[in-house]
Amino acid sequence: MERIYLDHAATTPVDPRVVEAMLPYFTANFGNPSSIYQEGRAAKKAIEESREKVAEILGAADTREIIFTGSGSEADNLAITGVAWAYRKKGNHIITSAIEHPAVLETCKELEKHGFAVTYLPVDEYGLVAPEAVRDAITDRTILVSLMHANNEVGTIQPIAEISKIVRAKGVLLHTDAVQTAGSIPLQADELGVDLLSLSAHKFYGPKGVGVLYAKKGTRLHRLIHGGAQEGRLRAGTENVAGIVGLAKALELAAAGLEETVPRLAELRDYFINKIFSRIDHVKLNGHPTRRLPGNINVSFEFVEGESILLNLDLEGIAASSGSACTSGALEPSHVLLAMGLPHETAHGSVRFTIGKDNTKEQLDYVLGVLEETIARLRAISPLYREQRGRKEK
Ligand SMILES: *Cc1c(COP(=O)(O)O)cnc(C)c1O
Repeated sequence: MERIYLDHAATTPVDPRVVEAMLPYFTANFGNPSSIYQEGRAAKKAIEESREKVAEILGAADTREIIFTGSGSEADNLAITGVAWAYRKKGNHIITSAIEHPAVLETCKELEKHGFAVTYLPVDEYGLVAPEAVRDAITDRTILVSLMHANNEVGTIQPIAEISKIVRAKGVLLHTDAVQTAGSIPLQADELGVDLLSLSAHKFYGPKGVGVLYAKKGTRLHRLIHGGAQEGRLRAGTENVAGIVGLAKALELAAAGLEETVPRLAELRDYFINKIFSRIDHVKLNGHPTRRLPGNINVSFEFVEGESILLNLDLEGIAASSGSACTSGALEPSHVLLAMGLPHETAHGSVRFTIGKDNTKEQLDYVLGVLEETIARLRAISPLYREQRGRKEK
């Protein structure tokens, strides 16, 4: 059976053109970029050309603003921990939100153990942070605001440019986790007005294990990984040359394709959402109706467990997600949905579908059929559903 992959927010397949660009750097061009002879210089050149490409696409003023990392998570860690320790004398206060990726939340929690104070801003029912709330939270001890560009679970896009005006006016640094927006919607560091921005190649048809931290010139960072002088002394370790080449190629392809993919994916998304609502009752759309990633659909089906839906979909050849990957095996409801005010039961019944560039309307029609059937079957054996129906009939 053909598999239908609808979990592009978790990861994407590597584009064959990206693989092709990477391959020579595993074999023929295997040199260590730090070596001074020809093989080394060739590898170094590939990295620097990739850096130029990424700088240009992201609207960076200087190639030195692009730091290659080992993942999006590492870029988030370097941004937050790096600023925290570099600006420790200026202050110890960091502002973030309740709906960030664990790479941001857990880094902040770790810093709290070392004397930093962190404000976790709430979000509204759509997952939006209020710019005024950011303004009110800033104190003369605040050194960093870290807010994600778009949320990985519900797809809500934050008003980063607006927030930037407030944060910059106060002389505070702004970091955005743009892992979900890079390659998905237009992304310009200068237009957003951020000092730091993270991205990850495997979310835009590049390889896993390579990311970027953009750090605007003048932003001081304390290094995370000690050793050699790679990446402007900020990240020791022999560079992932093939991965870096792949990241740059993938970003280039994604940027070139945006004009076509954004409206097409948004149309498929809205088609899918409308069909769900017309064919299934007791459904709630999670996230913002319009300020939303083009490929993101997150819905709660009342009276059923998201995990049960996913297992059934998987058996029918469909890969989707319950919002956050259940890493521990414990079925904790999503911290994002809870922060948006969803009751536990509704959060438990949520499913995330994230459409990618190769999905078709025919695939979505098949998924809708399976989904409708699955929900009906699960509700038929759900005591909660029967109880609710009984109440209505009385
Ligand atoms: C996937 C993701 C990350 C982590 O990126 P990795 O490269 O997988 O470490 C961070 N933030 C967001 C919003 C993500 O979606």
